[in-house]
Amino acid sequence: MAKFVLIGSGLAGGLLAAYLGRRGYDVDLYERRGDPREGNLVGGRSINLALSTRGIHALEQIGIANEVLQNAIPMRGRMIHEKSGLLHFVPYDADPNKFINSIGRAALNTTVIEAAQRYPNVRVHFNHRCTEVDINSATAHLLNTATTQLVASGSAVIGVDGAFSAVRQSMQRQIENFDYDESYLAHGYKELTIPPGPSGSWQMEKNALHIWPRKSFMMIALPNPDSSFTCTLFWEFEGPRSFATTRTNDDVRRFFNEEFPDAVPLMPQLLEDFRQNPTGSLVTIRCAPWFYRDKTCLVGDAAHAVVPFYGQGMNAAFEDCVVLDECLAEFPDDRQHAFAQYFQRRKQNADALADLAIGNFIEMRDKTASRVFRAKKKLDHFLQATFSGIYLPLYTMVTFTRIPYAEASKRARIQDRLVYGAIFCLLLIIGFIAALLARG
Ligand SMILES: Cc1cc2nc3c(=O)[nH]c(=O)nc-3n(C[C@H](O)[C@H](O)[C@H](O)COP(=O)(O)OP(=O)(O)OC[C@H]3O[C@@H](n4cnc5c(N)ncnc54)[C@H](O)[C@@H]3O)c2cc1C
Repeated sequence: MAKFVLIGSGLAGGLLAAYLGRRGYDVDLYERRGDPREGNLVGGRSINLALSTRGIHALEQIGIANEVLQNAIPMRGRMIHEKSGLLHFVPYDADPNKFINSIGRAALNTTVIEAAQRYPNVRVHFNHRCTEVDINSATAHLLNTATTQLVASGSAVIGVDGAFSAVRQSMQRQIENFDYDESYLAHGYKELTIPPGPSGSWQMEKNALHIWPRKSFMMIALPNPDSSFTCTLFWEFEGPRSFATTRTNDDVRRFFNEEFPDAVPLMPQLLEDFRQNPTGSLVTIRCAPWFYRDKTCLVGDAAHAVVPFYGQGMNAAFEDCVVLDECLAEFPDDRQHAFAQYFQRRKQNADALADLAIGNFIEMRDKTASRVFRAKKKLDHFLQATFSGIYLPLYTMVTFTRIPYAEASKRARIQDRLVYGAIFCLLLIIGFIAALLARG
């Protein structure tokens, strides 16, 4: 049986190790950080994430969806906060039983690692940082905490080591004409906290994803099981009003009082959080190919990091694990073909998701504030209910189905053309009739 060396035991690494372990493969999983169960929390990344249908499906296949969802908080729609303090709730779907789930990254990471460790053929090695991979011999070079150099060889090395993947960088160096593109948004993000209220109460609606849309920037908040909310401010790095120009406590206070007046009283740690928490960057990474012969392969953010505005990066990374597992099962004796098939099935969908995620940033920070947006959502839900199974809003296809991202995106474009075309024709007819009536 083949042996896989996996680099990175983040969200997808743990899950993929479980999938490969279940198939009977020998798996050695190397992670640069310490064991998350010993308090080595994932620093600098979002504390909570939205888990939806694709991710849940991947967890179900390995039998851990219920365990994960036990600690999830359903978010049934967006709660839009206007500057005036006025709130608008916009459901995610026409069906009130459809919702996304707020889950803690650290707990989820532990669950997937423990799922992998249930298989005796899976071994997890924490505190091992991969520095280089020889993609021809499927050999990973690693450094442990004592900075001792080690090598790990297998039939194949799989890079599940996130957006700044060392495995991908090795492929870039060693594969001629390796396609690589990274693009950063002008915005960064900072996490802030709304703690629980008196005696552990919720200070805002629990079952919603809160958004403070402010045109060129926004803040969002997701609920946590301890009744707190993790807020994320997405804001320009540079510019007259930006992270760069907001240096003193007074600057921070003034900005928040002007832009998020209803949130400020709920954020007693605002100044400390703002000072202490890092400002993260938002990158989209596209590359090709995602594999080299039958020796090296990329999964999750290592292959296709996307900006977080569709809440799909992890969901897509989990979907990668399902597809790679299917391909290995379909072509058990030809791993190169299995890798090639996996790449072919996923690449166009990852590219489509990258575009959708950037598009949704504009929708969230700008359009959600407008009446037109709320009217469009109502129209979407009306059409979905009226033409059940025929009309599916884009958000529904991406979040509540497993329709491939590229197909969902294409179908939504066609639907939009038909709907707007029909509205245009209707308006023409109404105008024509009105003109006839006016003539007498
Ligand atoms: C602010 C923010 C909010 C987000 N919200 C959502 C959301 O709501 N829903 C959603 O689906 N997605 C969300 N995402 C995206 C999601 O976090 C990623 O898509 C997901 O974590 C990808 O999983 P991964 O396993 O590929 O990478 P990661 O989770 O980044 O894991 C990579 C692992 O590899 C390890 N590693 C890295 N380099 C090395 C090395 N050289 N050697 C050994 N180990 C290494 C890392 O320590 C890490 O454990 C969000 C992202 C951000 C930044």
